[in-house]
Amino acid sequence: MTDTILSVKNLTLDIPTGSGMLHAVRGIDFDLNRGETLSIVGESGSGKSLTALAVIGLLGISIQRRADAMRFEEVDLLKANRRTLRNLRGNRVAMIFQEPMTSLNPAYMIGDQLIETLKLHRTVSTEMARQRALELLEKVGITAAESRLGQYPHQLSGGLRQRVMIALALMCEPDLLIADEPTTALDVSVQSQILNLLGELRREFGLTYLFISHDLAVIEHLATRVAVMYLGRIVEEASVADLFDRPRHPYTRALLGSVLTPDPTQGVPETALGTAYPNPIDPPSGCAFHPRCPLATAHCKTVGPRPLHSPTGRVECHLEDPESPLFKGDTA
Ligand code: SF4
Repeated sequence: MTDTILSVKNLTLDIPTGSGMLHAVRGIDFDLNRGETLSIVGESGSGKSLTALAVIGLLGISIQRRADAMRFEEVDLLKANRRTLRNLRGNRVAMIFQEPMTSLNPAYMIGDQLIETLKLHRTVSTEMARQRALELLEKVGITAAESRLGQYPHQLSGGLRQRVMIALALMCEPDLLIADEPTTALDVSVQSQILNLLGELRREFGLTYLFISHDLAVIEHLATRVAVMYLGRIVEEASVADLFDRPRHPYTRALLGSVLTPDPTQGVPETALGTAYPNPIDPPSGCAFHPRCPLATAHCKTVGPRPLHSPTGRVECHLEDPESPLFKGDTA
């Protein structure tokens, strides 16, 4: 039996702008089971980061959120008041961002920030919190942890700041860790160290991750399931193995084709994302991917595909729909 920790049903996010309503997220569903890593992947503007912010109640006040259901364990996130959400954040749900300074306060020493985070949510002495901070700094691979406690964020490198932010996120032993592009701003070598660290911490602490990324190469070794977002919709969801071995949606194949591989026999890009990303204020008719899809037909331009669910995942494409005139059987 699966243990669903987070469930989101028919989430829609609209942002009023001077040019019209921006449809950032257009009715998405996903469930996250305890111990797994669901990665939401898509280009900038696909709505993936806003989805993460919606989960933890950090949306800007101008953003209009609607959903049929949003639950984190026993908490109804649609009905939760600000106090409940504040208690959840940093405690049972932690978040790490692309830029560590989003979470770290430049005016306070690392040690104070770690200690205060734990004391805010738990009844512990300062000394106990300090010991926990030291333990976690060592766990995330920071040497000379004792002396780091007295340093300010600006005195650390980008990689060290990211490790401190991970330690900060783990202070209260969260059930769910939301990571939004946590390695994008880092050098490639530091990026792989942080990804390995996140994998080790997941195993050691039994963490559940919602991992946001624009880069399929980054999530390949960390995710257990992947949801591919395009223009506010999840167009494909599958286990990471299925998605990489048998991508079903043309957009997924295009994303995979854009991942550099040292072995040319591993696949040739079927599509290239040559044309510009559409404007979410005025999304294309029919299938929103049709202006960039090499397999699009006139039918795709007028009729949107329906979500097709199977025991192993889901996809939104006429070519995969047995009831569509465009059905081609197994196109993978
Ligand atoms: Fe391409 Fe048509 Fe499938 Fe959309 S529905 S992804 S345009 S083939």
